[in-house]
Amino acid sequence: MLCRRICRLVPNVSVHMALPRQGVNIRRSMASDTAGTTRFDLLVIGGGSGGLAGARRASELGASAAVIESHKLGGTCVNVGCVPKKVMWNAAVHAEYLHDHSDYGFEVGNVRFSWEALKTKRDAYISHLNRIYRNNLDKGKIQNIQGHARFTNDPEPTVEVNGRKYTAPHILIATGGQPIVMTDDEVPGGSLGITSDGFFDLETLPKRSVIVGAGYIAVEMAGILSTLGSKTSLVIRQTGVLRNFDSFISANCTKELQNSGIDLWKNSQVKSVRKTEQGLEVTIVTKDPEKKNDEEKISTIQEVDCLLWAIGRQPNTNGLNIDLMGLETDERGHIVVDEFQNTNRPGIYAVGDVCGKALLTPVAIAAGRKLAHRLFEGKKDSKLDYSTIPTVVFSHPPIGTMGLTEEEAIKLRGKENIKVYKTSFTPMYHAITSRKSLCIMKLVCEGKEEKVVGLHMQGLGCDEMLQGFSVAIKMGATKADFDKTIAIHPTSSEEFVTMR
Ligand SMILES: Cc1cc2nc3c(=O)[nH]c(=O)nc-3n(C[C@H](O)[C@H](O)[C@H](O)COP(=O)(O)OP(=O)(O)OC[C@H]3O[C@@H](n4cnc5c(N)ncnc54)[C@H](O)[C@@H]3O)c2cc1C
Repeated sequence: MLCRRICRLVPNVSVHMALPRQGVNIRRSMASDTAGTTRFDLLVIGGGSGGLAGARRASELGASAAVIESHKLGGTCVNVGCVPKKVMWNAAVHAEYLHDHSDYGFEVGNVRFSWEALKTKRDAYISHLNRIYRNNLDKGKIQNIQGHARFTNDPEPTVEVNGRKYTAPHILIATGGQPIVMTDDEVPGGSLGITSDGFFDLETLPKRSVIVGAGYIAVEMAGILSTLGSKTSLVIRQTGVLRNFDSFISANCTKELQNSGIDLWKNSQVKSVRKTEQGLEVTIVTKDPEKKNDEEKISTIQEVDCLLWAIGRQPNTNGLNIDLMGLETDERGHIVVDEFQNTNRPGIYAVGDVCGKALLTPVAIAAGRKLAHRLFEGKKDSKLDYSTIPTVVFSHPPIGTMGLTEEEAIKLRGKENIKVYKTSFTPMYHAITSRKSLCIMKLVCEGKEEKVVGLHMQGLGCDEMLQGFSVAIKMGATKADFDKTIAIHPTSSEEFVTMR
């Protein structure tokens, strides 16, 4: 049996040689007070995905840790992101299947949907998760400091919350991001709209929705609202959504949005918004770049009760005083870190959305944990591999994607080194339904050995299909490995191992 010993090098800083296993007593270092400043081994700013994961892993490794959170524990993902969004998407999937009930022999009569009932259940679930996060901190002996953190100008990096000071040799910034809000200066009346945060506050299903944006949050929210019965328009600046995805996916998703009844305004932007007695009046300017005469078309959408800006996110560094620490930021305000999550100031690190790279919960969690192992377990090479990260867009039908797009692969490795396999078909589920949606799949392979460097798909079940394939791709699977695998019949995923 390995001796799992915790070495104390300097007061309040612990280096731990191995991960304590269950049943093994951890000697945890304790917070202390010096001249009115409370000291920990690790001070985390932000109780979201990355911050909580980093603090909990550090505490498991014996460090004294504290998490400062200004709002609700769990951060964006739990409160206004992945979790409530997935509940709403699940509800929308129910609504879609209702259309197929009679094709499958069910007579369901008059079905009524209550947004209010769904919201009550969803909010209760989120509150339950907030309590679990709180309990987990208590169980891990991690101090939860409630309030807004800001750096002070003390000689040693110090953080102040509600007039009290805290410090640590290791300070982790995990403050995430927030939706960009449209101002009245940019678009007159723009502030009458909401953002994805406001979507989760909606008390009733809007009758008429206008979503602005072409990224995954715009696509997901438009899909949810439309499928649940709101007449929905999506306003995009160019001709397709998800423009940084593989073009196969971008084109198909754009088509699926239109097929599902979403009114797509291409080459368009919101010019102004006006409040009327019947709701918002949204004026849109459309300009087709293909047409040479520079002609602009002005249109209005009336009686809008939900205008949602999904035009991007920005890092949460306001009021944090990072300039006092001399921290380097990029042109969009994200904190610049190296591959080990180090900022340019020794002892200060950053993980998650605030760094602006791969804005996903599992990425923030993994980066936080890897950092804890480096700082408190002496694993000096512990860092997150940011390559080939799988991700899902909860559109209708869902999208699964990982690795290089065909366009990126050709640009990076040369057209002659890239072979692409693709297919599109109607999933068997739709064989007897009048409602149809396609399943499309693409494999991007590199070199003579045809190493799979990209996998992209949209169709029923693709959300749950991706994780298994991502293990194979991460392990370096080739097209021949895919071909050697016996298909599972009848499924959509079998197409990936039978492609020619
Ligand atoms: C609508 C939506 C849907 C999403 N869906 C998915 C999905 O399906 N899958 C996925 O993987 N990701 C999804 N994401 C992204 C995911 O939520 C984020 O990538 C993730 O939450 C980032 O974690 P984080 O720890 O960096 O920041 P956050 O989770 O945002 O946590 C940061 C925390 O810091 C706190 N904070 C900020 N400043 C201070 C301060 N000065 N003092 C104290 N506390 C402070 C904030 O209150 C917040 O709680 C979605 C995001 C949105 C908006």
